Amino acid sequence: MSTRTFDVAGLEGGRVGLTSAQLEQLSSAIDGPLLTAGDEGWDGAVVVWNATVAKTPALVVQPTSADDVAAVVRFASEHGLLLSVKGGGHNIAGTAIAEDGLTLDMSRMRDVTVDPAGRLAHVGPGCLLQDVDRATQAHGLATVLGFVSETGVAGLTLGGGFGYLTRRFGWATDNLGEVEIVTADGKIRTASRAENADLFWAIRGGGGNFGVVTRFTFRLHEVGPMVTGGLVAWSADRADEVLETYRELTASAPRELTAAVMIRLAPPAPFVPEDWHLKPVVALLVCHSGPTAEADLAPLRALGDPIFSLVGEKPYVALQSMVDNLQPKGLHQYWKAEFLPDLPSEYLNTFRDAALRVASPLSFSIIFHLAGALNEHDDGSAVGNRDAQFISGFTGTWPPQANGDGIMAAVRQGWEEIRPFSTGGNYVNFQLAEDDATRTSGAYRGNFERLQQAKAQYDPDNLFRVNRNIRPLGQERTSS
Ligand SMILES: Cc1cc2nc3c(=O)[nH]c(=O)nc-3n(C[C@H](O)[C@H](O)[C@H](O)COP(=O)(O)OP(=O)(O)OC[C@H]3O[C@@H](n4cnc5c(N)ncnc54)[C@H](O)[C@@H]3O)c2cc1C
Repeated sequence: MSTRTFDVAGLEGGRVGLTSAQLEQLSSAIDGPLLTAGDEGWDGAVVVWNATVAKTPALVVQPTSADDVAAVVRFASEHGLLLSVKGGGHNIAGTAIAEDGLTLDMSRMRDVTVDPAGRLAHVGPGCLLQDVDRATQAHGLATVLGFVSETGVAGLTLGGGFGYLTRRFGWATDNLGEVEIVTADGKIRTASRAENADLFWAIRGGGGNFGVVTRFTFRLHEVGPMVTGGLVAWSADRADEVLETYRELTASAPRELTAAVMIRLAPPAPFVPEDWHLKPVVALLVCHSGPTAEADLAPLRALGDPIFSLVGEKPYVALQSMVDNLQPKGLHQYWKAEFLPDLPSEYLNTFRDAALRVASPLSFSIIFHLAGALNEHDDGSAVGNRDAQFISGFTGTWPPQANGDGIMAAVRQGWEEIRPFSTGGNYVNFQLAEDDATRTSGAYRGNFERLQQAKAQYDPDNLFRVNRNIRPLGQERTSS
């Protein structure tokens, strides 16, 4: 008789006791390692970006293939185990980790294959943005991804995904051609516009609710490899002037130009003159991936007298990692954001006042321009929010040893003040653990019921629930 070795959190609450024979059975069904606390690689496997997340799984599997993933999904389903999936671990709500449960850490599936002639990239689910950008830029190609290179491709894309190329090519998920996915029944499927089209519709925005993606195929576009971009900052005393210029710039900018405006305290970074360390500044982060950069950036140059300007020609991959150091792992994070349909003066004033209250050595407030392809490109996917022209919000950040109450209060107050300007939608990838089910359904608006139907079809027992959960239609109150 095998001994009972492990208590793992159950899908319906409580604990499931696994015997050593059962663990052995799982281990022998997969090529990748099965880890428990103390094993080599454990700490890296269970850490997530937002240090407020205090969750630890009981077991981690690091699959090396879709077959491994399928074996784990079948095992979790058969034993009723709480299961989570970790891509890059950047989700702010900490959904990568199942507390006391079983976590699939995809970090060993980090391969990228580029087909330059077909303009496609086949991307492993453990890839970070930098893996894809480096591989595709070697061919002068890129797809839409976010603007911090250590973020995971999987979570970002499955929730929508925006970045410097969104104005040209839409949501990251609009650029998906196909995925390989393991569904709750343990089957390995292909989903595309031609095959399992309803599943493909759902995963493009519906996050990890429908299965574990084991390969993404992205369409690529000619980009760079040199672009014009970077960061430029002025004293926050000039916030009104810079915000007005930002509004004018975004109203007329070609789609090759993407700009974000930020208010924060200047970081004590080597590129910031010492006199300005920790003083309030207003900054623009820009990327121009077309031929008319200098002409299009003239209004910004005309502002004159920046505290520093790092805007110039640089490789796209360098720009893609330029602000990585401003958002390192291991800090406490509290974010709130909304999609906006436009930028009226009243919004800019409200944003400026709130942003100055939020500003702290690590916290910042931002408006990011999205308008363009995203508004036109509705070929049917769950992400929706095709009316978003901007995304704007507050990122409250503090070190673990500090008290974040004041920062959280300032973020919450700012968010309440900007909510009246919202499209009514919000970005599922910026939600916090504290955000309730209404906020999740609110992210999908008119697409939510169809997502619940797809959930009922592909995951009727809600096996994939450690995420921004969409419950199966008809089971809204019964599953946790
Ligand atoms: C510093 C920082 C910068 C960011 N910048 C941007 C940005 O520029 N643009 C943008 O759009 N977003 C941005 N985000 C938000 C980002 O999109 C989300 O945090 C996203 O969840 C990160 O993906 P991940 O794989 O790293 O997350 P994880 O925490 O690893 O995973 C999040 C969830 O994704 C799902 N998931 C992960 N892998 C798989 C898989 N293989 N199959 C099925 N489901 C899976 C799971 O449900 C999991 O719970 C940023 C976040 C941070 C922290």
